[in-house]
Amino acid sequence: MQALQQNEFQELVHRYPRAIMLTTTDARIAYVNRMFSSITGYDPQEVVGRAPSVLSSGVHSKKFYQAMWESLLNEGHWEGVIWNRRKNGETYPQWLSISKVEIDRRRLFASMFIDVGDLAAGDERLASLAYYDPLTELPNRALFQEFLKARVSIRREAHKCCAILFIDLDFFKSINDLHGHECGDRVLQQAAVCIQSALRTGDMVARLSGDEFAAIVELDSSEEVDVICQRMTQAFQVPLMCDRKEYFLSASIGVALYPKHGETGSTLLQNADHAMYTAKLSGRGCYRMYNAEDTEQGRFKQRLSEALIASLKSAPEEFSVVYQPQYQLATGQIVGLEALFRWNHPHFGAVSPDDFVPIAEQRGYIQELTEGLVRCILADLPVAADDVPSGLKLAINISARQINDSRLEGTLAPLFARLRQIGWLPEIEITETHLMHLSSACLAWLHEFGQQGVTVALDDFGTGYSSLAYLHKLPVQVLKIDRQFIKRLGGEGNDTRIVSAILAMAEALDLDVVAEGIENEDQYRQLCELNCHRGQGYLMSKPVPWHTLHADLACRYQ
Ligand code: C2E
Ligand code: CA
Ligand code: CA
Repeated sequence: MQALQQNEFQELVHRYPRAIMLTTTDARIAYVNRMFSSITGYDPQEVVGRAPSVLSSGVHSKKFYQAMWESLLNEGHWEGVIWNRRKNGETYPQWLSISKVEIDRRRLFASMFIDVGDLAAGDERLASLAYYDPLTELPNRALFQEFLKARVSIRREAHKCCAILFIDLDFFKSINDLHGHECGDRVLQQAAVCIQSALRTGDMVARLSGDEFAAIVELDSSEEVDVICQRMTQAFQVPLMCDRKEYFLSASIGVALYPKHGETGSTLLQNADHAMYTAKLSGRGCYRMYNAEDTEQGRFKQRLSEALIASLKSAPEEFSVVYQPQYQLATGQIVGLEALFRWNHPHFGAVSPDDFVPIAEQRGYIQELTEGLVRCILADLPVAADDVPSGLKLAINISARQINDSRLEGTLAPLFARLRQIGWLPEIEITETHLMHLSSACLAWLHEFGQQGVTVALDDFGTGYSSLAYLHKLPVQVLKIDRQFIKRLGGEGNDTRIVSAILAMAEALDLDVVAEGIENEDQYRQLCELNCHRGQGYLMSKPVPWHTLHADLACRYQ
């Protein structure tokens, strides 16, 4: 076989589909090929003769380069991910391998690299999988931690600050649970784009795990971080599109500043995580700066959450149920009851369901909670029809997240059977904000429920986003107007507009309406005048235990 001519060989190298750069031992660039120019943006004449540091991004510390040199000198080889800067200023990750070579007795270093962010690089990118999340194409936790260490040491040398953002998507689990993992994956990809859109060139973002992301943001002043976080929370306000469906996602962001909130990468990440938890506690969809006192609260919540799980598993006696009567407003007669769950812990005392229900949802114990509720109700209700007035509705609250749980039907069956036995009617209440996220399979399931004689009520109506057109399609028969609208009735700032609009709409759609949170006579009277059918509130009765209620069931509100 004929040997390659020198010029043929040169052409081969020149056209090779990886970037190639030769450097002399005194650190001058001696040769670059075509792929080098297309990745870095530099023509050969702009870089040959210069130090390879023209390519560096400033991301890595001195130590990083020292380690690289040591490995090159001792083993003759170095390979790994390195962030460099293109001519246009953009930093990008490359998979670089450098080897010592000898050409015509000249010792050189041959570097070969690919742009790992470039999809067209195909199989080559596989080499970088250890450092990249294949779903979002973002650096993974391992690479993030490496960079974090590097950046902190550079910022220290330069006496500059930076911010670590810990970003956690809100209610992502429910998208996964309700619409499947494929949809969840696509939503995650879009969320990654959303996060990146709020950052600037030179900032770095990674996917740590599941629905957790983190970013390193370089700052000239600590105020800049507010602008970035605001931009990020706003970016999430636009619904994400997936399969031509809209998803309302939000993110909770925790921020830790270097050097104010920590000197090392790991402390900073941990503190940003704590701050994220505070953002969750403050209602989600917002950002919070790290604060040591908040962390104390976070620990409290952690302990509470452990206690709840333990109690649900092994201390049924700590749970009970109270019932709040619902009245036919025109006659004052009791027409139904809403069952509300109670938890009394020996150490934490009476914990509000507003605190423990979300914990059970987040920790995946909502099904156990409903089982507990049903057990308590069954213990209270009589078994014979003549012990209670007939035809009352019993409403229970169900979390939208449990609707596609196959165990739910079995859990509720004994309750429904008992209600039938005493001539009562079951109703389930689902919060409006969650209902709009339900998949068609869940809606079909609700529909089936409806056909078995279970009414479905949309709880906290007015606080979510239900559009009229959508409402019409939902398998819902009752709207529960949220307390905040009932509050506006009567008194000085009397505002009947929203309530009367809801009532008019309900009438047009042939839906029943329950007003919740009626606290005074004025509100009661106005609701009667507006022709609202049903109502409940402290004015008529607070939620009470069964034994107190039982005797009053036949009474009227005068
Ligand atoms: P919700 O379904 O909106 O329940 C009504 C809440 O308003 C109850 O609080 C009730 O005590 C309170 N309330 C009733 N009348 C008035 C009034 O006139 N004024 C005021 N200010 N409040 C009134 P509670 O019992 O603390 O329950 C809070 C939330 O916890 C419930 O809101 C419901 O979303 C959830 N929850 C309670 N029990 C369960 C349960 O068994 N399962 C699930 N998934 N959620 C539950
Ligand atoms: Ca309710
Ligand atoms: Ca409600």
